[in-house]
Amino acid sequence: MHRSYLALLFLLCAGIVGADPVPPLSPNVARFVLANAEFSVMHEMGHMLIAEYNLPVLGREEDAADQIGFILLFRLYTKLPQDEIDARLLDIADYWRLEWQTPKPQAEQVLAWDSHPLDEQRYYNLVCLLYGSDMQRLDWLPAFTGLPYERAVYCDQEFQQAIKAVNWVHHARHTLDIRHHSGARLEFETPLIDRAATEPLVALLRDENRLQELVNAVFQQFRPPRPLTLRLLNCGSPDAWYDINGGEMALCYERLQRFREMAENLPRLRTPATRQCPGPTELRPAGC
Ligand SMILES: [Zn+2]
Repeated sequence: MHRSYLALLFLLCAGIVGADPVPPLSPNVARFVLANAEFSVMHEMGHMLIAEYNLPVLGREEDAADQIGFILLFRLYTKLPQDEIDARLLDIADYWRLEWQTPKPQAEQVLAWDSHPLDEQRYYNLVCLLYGSDMQRLDWLPAFTGLPYERAVYCDQEFQQAIKAVNWVHHARHTLDIRHHSGARLEFETPLIDRAATEPLVALLRDENRLQELVNAVFQQFRPPRPLTLRLLNCGSPDAWYDINGGEMALCYERLQRFREMAENLPRLRTPATRQCPGPTELRPAGC
């Protein structure tokens, strides 16, 4: 059936049951949701590589997973236009700024004893990695994001250290005496919560096989020792995890919804290019 008929059918059904039609995702919101969903998966890929390769970890594993996740995504994004790469990676850092600066009940706060870094630290860590990827071209970034000079001056070294570690893991797979698999199964549960609002978010990940191709690319590079699954599911909280026993990575629909709510309702940081020409390249108006 043609897409416009499907859309009409959807609107009619929404009218019959009296539900408010859910507005479509704006390009800028879609980018924020997509980039942060992809980073969530890559962070769990970081935990997966640490576990499946039995890697030694110095410092906090959560920091290592953030660094691995950032570098994996940074490399997978290389085919995109530079403005789009900058916008997506800034969206990923900005999510943690929004978490940090949004008041929340104590039960939802990350505290100093937690195995995860504070939201504020994750924001500065990710901004530093982004800035460190090209300090000359991104010279506007420290002042724009509030990254102090004392940290910013060494960000190129932090970025190189993270690249070196991921390269080491990539080469280590050749020396490990294990059978390798290159496949990851991707499973989408039927959304149960607020289905009309969740389905466009799911479509964003499914369209053009986006998420599957991203996962395939990581598996082709690293070839973990057993087949693994990435599941998108209903959880009851905006979570994501890697379960070593089941060999399963998970991303909750509630997390996608949280990304959407934040992107739609809170003031976000925008790169100079996206402030002038919002939205993914293919959706930008002519002249951008
Ligand atoms: Zn983690």
